[in-house]
Amino acid sequence: MHKDLEEILIPTAELNAGIKKLGERISLDYAGRCVSLVGVLKGCVLFMADLVKHLSIDTRMDFMMLSSYSGAQSTGVVRTILDLKENIEGRDVLIIEDIVDSGLTMHYMLQNLRTRHPKSLEICTLLDKPSCRKAKVPIKYTGFTIPDKFVVGYGLDYNEIYRNLPYIGVLKKSAIEGKKT
Ligand code: 5GP
Repeated sequence: MHKDLEEILIPTAELNAGIKKLGERISLDYAGRCVSLVGVLKGCVLFMADLVKHLSIDTRMDFMMLSSYSGAQSTGVVRTILDLKENIEGRDVLIIEDIVDSGLTMHYMLQNLRTRHPKSLEICTLLDKPSCRKAKVPIKYTGFTIPDKFVVGYGLDYNEIYRNLPYIGVLKKSAIEGKKT
C-alpha cells in the first residue's frame, strides 16, 4: 500500500470484478446498438480503459474535461475545459465518470449534453458518495457506493498525484495537509 494512504478501500481484484459486472450489464442493456461513451477527464481514464474491454457492443469514445475541484475541496463551480469532438445528436450517450460526490459536475454535464439532443443520455460512475449530494442526478450504473472519505487511485488524484495506483485508497489527513499548495 502507498505510504500516504490510511487504508485500501477497494482492492484491485474487487475493482476488476465490479467493472466486469458493469460491462456485462451495459452490453445487455445496449445490445444491438452503438453506444457513444463520453469520458470525463482525467479521472475516467483507467476506469474507461478497463470497462470498454468488457463491452461486447460497438462503441464510440469521446472525452470532456471539466473542472469543479481544487485540491480536496469542491469549489462548486463547474467549467468546460475541453469539449467533445464528435456530434452526439441522435446518439445513445453514456457518460463515464470516476466519482459522483456533490453531483454538481454530473448535473452540469446532463444539462450541457441534453442541449445537443442525444437519443438517450445516461450516467455510469465507478464510485458513488451519496452522502455528499447537493444536486440530484439519476445514475444508471454504479460500480461501488462508498462512504464520505476522500479517495485516490485508479484515476482519482490529489493535486494530480496517485492516479496510477491500481486500487482505491483513502488518503491520510497528513498527506492532504502536507501537500496543500
Ligand atoms: P462532484 O461535482 O460530484 O462534487 O464531484 C465530481 C468530481 O470531483 C469527480 O469527478 C472528482 O474529480 C472529484 N472528486 C469528488 N470526490 C472525490 C474524492 O473523494 N477523491 C478525488 N480524488 N476526487 C474526488
